[in-house]
Parts: sequence; C-alpha cells; structure tokens
Amino acid sequence: MDAAEFRRRGKEMVDLIADYLENIEQRPVYPDVEPGYLRSLIPEEAPEEPDTYEDVVKDIERVIMPGVTHWHSPYFYAYFPTANSFPAMLADMLSGAIGCIGFSWAASPACTELETVMMDWLGKMLKLPEDFIAGTHGQGGGVIQGTASEATLVALLAARSRAVRMILASDPQRPETGITSKLVAYSSDQAHCSVERAGMIAGVRMKKIPTEQSDKYAVQGETLRRMIQEDKAAGLIPFYVRTEHTHPLLQYSGNAEKIWMHIDAAYAGSSFICPEFRPLLNGIEFADSFNFNPHKWLLVNFDCSTMWVRKRSDLIGAFKMDPLYLKHDHQESGRYFYTDNSLFRSLKMWFVFRMYGLKGLQDYIRKHVELAKEFESLVRADQRFEISADVVLGLVCFRLKGSNEVNETLLKRINNGRKIHLVPCQLSGQFVLRFAVCARTTESRHIREAWRLITQLAEEVMQELPH
Ligand code: PLP
Repeated sequence: MDAAEFRRRGKEMVDLIADYLENIEQRPVYPDVEPGYLRSLIPEEAPEEPDTYEDVVKDIERVIMPGVTHWHSPYFYAYFPTANSFPAMLADMLSGAIGCIGFSWAASPACTELETVMMDWLGKMLKLPEDFIAGTHGQGGGVIQGTASEATLVALLAARSRAVRMILASDPQRPETGITSKLVAYSSDQAHCSVERAGMIAGVRMKKIPTEQSDKYAVQGETLRRMIQEDKAAGLIPFYVRTEHTHPLLQYSGNAEKIWMHIDAAYAGSSFICPEFRPLLNGIEFADSFNFNPHKWLLVNFDCSTMWVRKRSDLIGAFKMDPLYLKHDHQESGRYFYTDNSLFRSLKMWFVFRMYGLKGLQDYIRKHVELAKEFESLVRADQRFEISADVVLGLVCFRLKGSNEVNETLLKRINNGRKIHLVPCQLSGQFVLRFAVCARTTESRHIREAWRLITQLAEEVMQELPH
C-alpha cells in the first residue's frame, strides 16, 4: 500500500468506523459463538502471496464481528466502561504514524515531554496535592501505564525496593532475602484480583483486610492498624497498603513505619474531576502513589492508565537501568521516569482534553451518574427488587429479592437474549447483578429499554422458580 492508496483506504476506514459506531445498537451486544469459532473461518497459515485490501475488509464482517462483544453499544452494562471517543481515535492514528518508542527523552523528546505535561494537566483537574505535580521543579509527577494492574504492580515493586533500602540503611549486614521473606502487603478483601496477582509476581505475602457490609465494604483504619500490629509482633515487615478508598489512610496517618500507600481508583478516578465527587479522594495527601484509568471513563481510548507518585526517585531508584545505548547528552535534565516514558499515549489525552475541555468531560461523567440514578430509581420503585450497595457513581448493584438461584437464572436469561449484557458480583454471599453505565452514547431510552427487558425476564423466572 503506497501513500496514495493509504489516503483512499484511510477515508474508507473512517467511514467504516463511523458506520459501525452509529449503528452499533442494532447489533446483538453479546456474540453467539462457541470457543474456537474463529479458527475454522480463516486459513491455518498466513498467505504466501499478499491478499487484497478488499479481501481483508470483507472478512471483518465474516470473521471478526460475529465474535465481538460490543463494548460501545448503549446496551452494554457489564464490567466497567472502556473509553471511546473520536478525538482519541484520531490521536491514536497519529501516534501509530509517528510510531516512536519513548524509552529515553532522546528517543523522542516530545513523547516524554507531552506525557509529563499531560499528567500535570490531569493532576490539576483532579486537584491532586502539589507534591504529585511535576512542574519544572517538582519531586513527584505522573507516568502512563498500560493498566491499573500494572500500576499496582509497579507501586508494589517500588515499595518493596524502598523498604529493603531503608532496612539495609540501618542494618547493612542483614541479608536481603531475609528481608523480602518477611515483607507483608495489604489490600481489601473486595480488591480487584490484579492485586493478588501483583503479590504473586513480586513474591511477597499479600494479606486481605476483611470488610463488612455495614461499613459499605470499605476498609476500616482500625482493622488495618490491628493487622499491622499483629504482623509486626510476629516479626513480619508491613510495607505496602493498596486501597480504593482513602479514609483508612486518614486513620493511619501516623505511619511511622513508612508503609507505602497506593490508591487504586481505576474506575472512580475519572469522576474526581467533578468537585462534587472529589471528596472521594480526600486523604490522598497521605498516599505515596495514586492511579486511575482515563481509558475507563475519561474518553481516552485504551490504553491509558495514569499513575502519580509523590517522589519520582522512588520509581527511578527501583527500576534504574543505564546501558550505554540509552545514554544521551541531556541525561539528567531529560530524565523523567524509570523508563523514561513509552508510547505516545499522551497524544490521546492532549486531543481529548483540548476538544472536550474540562467542562465537557465533567458533563460526560455527570450524565452517566444521572443515568445510573435513573436506573436505581426504576429498581427501587419495583417491590420485587432490591438495591445491594449504595449507588455512588455509574454502577448499580441490584437483585431480585430471593434466592441466589433465582438471580443466577435471571442473569443467564438476560445474557442469552443478547440484547443487553450484564455481569454479576458477589456481596456478602449474595449473587448480585451489576448494571454499569458504560457507553458514551447511552441515553435514558436505553436505560428504560434495559429495565423493560430485565423486568419481563424476571416475571418469567419468578413464575418458574420458587424464590
Ligand atoms: N483496580 C480496580 C479498582 C478496578 O476496578 C479494576 C478494573 O475494573 C482494575 C484494578 C483492573 O484494571 P486494569 O484492567 O486496567 O488492570
């Protein structure tokens, strides 16, 4: 494909994308295929001679679309949102064209510098404490990761390295393996599974902090304090706490042991750009690192998981590598982060922040929260259902009053219908349905249609099963 053909095909692709997104709600949101469906649709080996572009495009509908779960359908209510906006898609095209890898400032100065400034812009939108803003002289700052899971791991590894360094500074004879085998990290029993995995990768003990329904499943500072004291008494070394909520940090603000506090607000973080939701981040002043995913709810397409640290040197110190081929003339002034930065993901932030403006982004978040409230009031108005957890942002956890079986059957019927898509969760032993407002194009009419379908299926299920 030469540049002339690329111009033509590129325009066609933009049309294809716009058509796909404009008509997405006509497609079943959830695919009807069996595992392995795709292999039989394409050759066993790559073609010896090139295929034509037309052949490739034809196969999008034949091979790919039947197996796609349409995350951007306004009938998709599963998991959490994943962002999708036209400015971000255009920026992604440009990023692909520039195609640089920013592993050092010199490898592409604009890549490192735009990321640094975009992280400051976003940090200021969130009203992060000044310590987390790089500016021109700050000690802290932000770096883009691929996912929140990566951010949790990176923070854990940096915390491990800091803990070992601190102990060795006061006890240089102590063997390092003797330290790491005693390290213990903590996270809520409600935490995302990526936390447990991070513990496995880092090779450290990860303890779950028990939570209660009566505390809205938030970690209590007192529980954490007790666990830390018991572990210290048993000769262990508490070094890392990861939480979605900040208030336990407030209660643990003494923190004489310098335990690393990481806040993971993967989904909720986007809402903190609205003053009315910013109190959810109170306590951030006690944290060492903070992360959330603009690629979830801030209209910046995957991947873009933003992570800030109070002290960049904690990350640089943990991951520093200085091979000759990465050295450059501006080594010190250009050094920003541990790798410095990577892909040109900040272009997506730049396009989105400029083309929506803070006001546009706030409106977007508020609209989703309103839609969730609308769904919540539909549930509350129906005596057969109950709300299972407070509705704070765009997620509604609800269930039919009755057995887990009846709720499991209801969810199966909902998803088998393929018109709307939801996933479950478990809260205090109860099978609960999660309704997350996800797509950029979701409107009130979609919410009402989803509720109509849910209640119609609930009627059927309740007639068939004792509840
Ligand atoms: N942490 C929390 C609190 C989450 O809600 C999620 C996903 O929803 C994750 C981590 C995982 O995010 P990622 O897929 O970016 O690793």
